[in-house]
This record gives sequence, structure tokens and C-alpha cells, in this order.
Amino acid sequence: MAALSRALVWFKRDLRVHDHAPLAAAQSHQDALGLFIIEPDWLQSPEFDASHVDFALGCLRELRTDLALRGMPLLVCVGPAIEVLEKLHAEVGFTHVLSHEETGSGWSYMRDVQVAVWCRSQQVQWQEFMQTGVVRRLRSRSGWAKRWQSRMDAPLILPSARFNAAVSCDQPDLPTLASLGLSPHGKTLQAAGEKAAQQTLQSFLHLRGNNYRKAISSPLTAEAGCSRLSPHLAFGTLSMRTVHQATEAAIGSTSDRSLAYALRGFAGRLRWHCHFMQKLEDEPAIEFNNFARACDGLREDEFNPDHFAAWCAGRTGYPMVDACMRSLKATGWLNFRMRAMLVSFSSYHLWLHWREPGLFLARQFLDFEPGIHWSQMQMQSGTTGINTLRMYSPTKQAHDQDPEGLFIRRWVPELARVPLPYLAEPWKMDTSVQRMVGCLIGEDYPAPIVNEKIAG
Ligand SMILES: Cc1cc2nc3c(=O)[nH]c(=O)nc-3n(C[C@H](O)[C@H](O)[C@H](O)COP(=O)(O)OP(=O)(O)OC[C@H]3O[C@@H](n4cnc5c(N)ncnc54)[C@H](O)[C@@H]3O)c2cc1C
Repeated sequence: MAALSRALVWFKRDLRVHDHAPLAAAQSHQDALGLFIIEPDWLQSPEFDASHVDFALGCLRELRTDLALRGMPLLVCVGPAIEVLEKLHAEVGFTHVLSHEETGSGWSYMRDVQVAVWCRSQQVQWQEFMQTGVVRRLRSRSGWAKRWQSRMDAPLILPSARFNAAVSCDQPDLPTLASLGLSPHGKTLQAAGEKAAQQTLQSFLHLRGNNYRKAISSPLTAEAGCSRLSPHLAFGTLSMRTVHQATEAAIGSTSDRSLAYALRGFAGRLRWHCHFMQKLEDEPAIEFNNFARACDGLREDEFNPDHFAAWCAGRTGYPMVDACMRSLKATGWLNFRMRAMLVSFSSYHLWLHWREPGLFLARQFLDFEPGIHWSQMQMQSGTTGINTLRMYSPTKQAHDQDPEGLFIRRWVPELARVPLPYLAEPWKMDTSVQRMVGCLIGEDYPAPIVNEKIAG
């Protein structure tokens, strides 16, 4: 009799059933079960926020239902990966682990190293599948774009129809934030799960995308005018290939030239996603060290904790900076230009090294994606040694991106009655005006913590 081949599909940042290579591969085994591990190393990592696991749990709820319809149980276990795998191996004796490759933070890289050792010691075969344009053990960047294109143009993998369930295993209720010992995060998050991801993609490609290139810079218009797919790409409720192919199909089928032009701009950014992840894959140290080691020592010893605290709290005295920070903390999302402005302000005006602000922002971003995040943190801080230095003036950004002051008034209610001409620079109001509008600078709203004209 042939030996039993039992597949464990280890879900990581790929919480979907469509275009999922490990799931498809599981069909060639006699039976299969799914696993997601909530690892203490994740929960305790400095870039983690309760909103991240909250979103993941929302995705897992839907995934469990979708897999159950196909006959596959999905276990969601809390504990160190090796301990969870060991226990499960003793209980159900899987022969294969199937997962996607992950280009993650230092802690997940170390975990993967340990899992590989453990699998070898147990004669369990661990097979990893690519899911983005990132190439493992890349020797040279030449030909990378071509390879990206052919991976993205490859046919989508259809969702698997039916599995034989590996033994009947108990599927306890999903953990909750409280059972994980986490406090509520208080953010209003985007809807989680594969269906919400598909709806977001379709509404962008066919309704919202028309204005993409114009809408992308202002936080007011970007909210609806950008795709808002980033958390879905980060948690893998959509594959990059699905987004790429749906975009190309929308461009090919529309007679609206302005929509096609807008979507071309969007399509280019999908490639950037993988381009930046590739940087982390090739050079994992960029999570911790300056790209350009010549920048070592530039800011490290000048970290001002009061400035950092004011920046994190959205109380720098610069209305556009504070509005962006407060909006981000409430929603888990901010558009690209305003992310860049926040980092430019912390790096140049406040002269803070990028690592602590980067960790803080990673906790705020629902779409935290280490490869993009650390590359962008360094680019906006001027420590890559290759990119042009770019500093954003928070008052100019207020005038350009929020000319009527709607965004600032929404997120900084202390300034609600400040007349528009003063809204970007409220410290310029006479004291009599400050009294009249009920906003005393230094009391009701902070005076600028640094002078924009001198700092930076
Ligand atoms: C300091 C800083 C940190 C950032 N950290 C992250 C992060 O942790 N995770 C993340 O997904 N994005 C990050 N970005 C990039 C960008 O701001 C977000 O991808 C974008 O705002 C997400 O919204 P969207 O999906 O509506 O974007 P859209 O404009 O609709 O873009 C579609 C997709 O393209 C990709 N993309 C867009 N812009 C970029 C870019 N500049 N670089 C790489 N990929 C891009 C993303 O996957 C995005 O979801 C960061 C930018 C800065 C300046």
C-alpha cells in the first residue's frame, strides 16, 4: 500500500482561496488541512499592532468558511511555529508543508530558518511557492522586469474544488483580541477578507479609478480615488497576479481613454510593490541599517524624544502634519504623498533617525509591508545614497493638497474656527484673532515645535 501523503497548507500572508499555488498543490496529496499560526514573535514584534491581527482574523473567518465548502479544515493556532508544527505533527502526522514564500521582517525570516531545520529533522517536505514578483537568491537585477511580467501574465490558478479532509480535527472558535491579551485598537479599518478585496478591486477598476492620477496626492481625494488595495495585498486576500491581470483586462476593454490612462499609472505601481520587496529580499539588513552606510551616525545621537512624542501624538503645531498623523491613527491608512511628508518632517525638520518613526508608522499602517516600508522610510530620510533628497514643506503641502482646509478641520478640530488664510500656519494669528476663534496657540493647539524655515 502506498504511504500516506498528507499536506499541511500553511497560510501566511496569503489569506485567500483564488490563485493560491499551495492549495492547488495540496490536491495531489491524499488529504490535506490548513493552518494559520498566530505567533508570539509576531504579536511581540515592535512593528505589530492589534489592528493587524484584527484584520487577519476577519480574513481567516471568511477563509475558514471558503475552505470548509471545499472540505478542508482550517486550524488557527496560537504559539511559536515550531511548537505548533510539532504538536500537530504528533497528532495528525502530515508529510508535506505547503506554503508561499515570504519576504518579511527579521523575526519571520528567523522562524523560516528554524522551520526548515525542523522539517528536515522530521522528514517532512516543505515546499514553498512564489506569489509576487520577488525572486529568491537573485544574482542580478538585469532581466528582473521581464521576469516580473511573465510571472504576472501566467494563468491564474483556479480555486481548488474539493479536498479530502485530513482526519476530523476540532476547529475551535477563532481567538479574539481579548483572548490574545490585546486591547482594542480603536481604528476604523477597511473591510477584511477575499470578497471585500474583490469588491474593492472591481470598484476601483470600473468606478473609482478614473481620477486616479489627479486624486493620488491629496489626502481628501486619495481616500476614494486610490485603489485602497494595500491591506489586501499585504495580507494576501488578493494575489498580485490577480490585480495585475484584472487591471490589464480593464484597460483592454474600456473605450474611455482617460480611464485607461489612469489605470496605466496604477499598473506601474504594482511593479514598484515587488521592486521594493525585492530590495528587502536581497538585503534584509535595510530593516535595521542605513542603505548607505556612509549615513551611519548622521542622526542617531540626536534623537529628541519630546519631538518624537509630539510627532506621534499629532501635536507638532504644523496642522497638515498633525491632521495626517491623526487621520492615519484613526483609519490605518494614508496616501503616499502624506506618508512621505510625515517622514520628511520627522527626518529633516525634527532630525529623527528613521528607525523609531518607522516602527511607529508600521504599527499604524494596516498595510504594513516590510519591503516597501523600510525602503520608503530610508528614501524619504535620505539614507539610500542613490535617491534625490526630497523635503516636503508642511505649509506648502497644506496649501497645495488641502486648499480649502477641509482635511485639517476634520482631523484637527481645535482649528475648526481658524480662518482659512491662517489655517496652514495658525501661529501667525494675532492674539486677538486667536481669542476670537477660541484657539489660543500654545494652549488650545501647540505652537510649532520647530521653526520650519530654520529646521531641516
Ligand atoms: C514612508 C512610507 C511608508 C510606506 N509603507 C508602506 C507599507 O508598509 N505598505 C504598503 O503597501 N505601502 C507602503 N507605502 C507606499 C504607499 O504609500 C502605499 O502603497 C499606498 O499609499 C497604499 O494605498 P493604495 O493601495 O490605495 O495605493 P495605490 O496608489 O492604489 O497603489 C496600488 C498598490 O501599488 C503599490 N504601491 C503604490 N505606491 C507604491 C510605492 N510608492 N512603493 C511601492 N509600492 C507602491 C501598493 O501595493 C499599492 O497597494 C509607503 C510609503 C511611504 C512614503
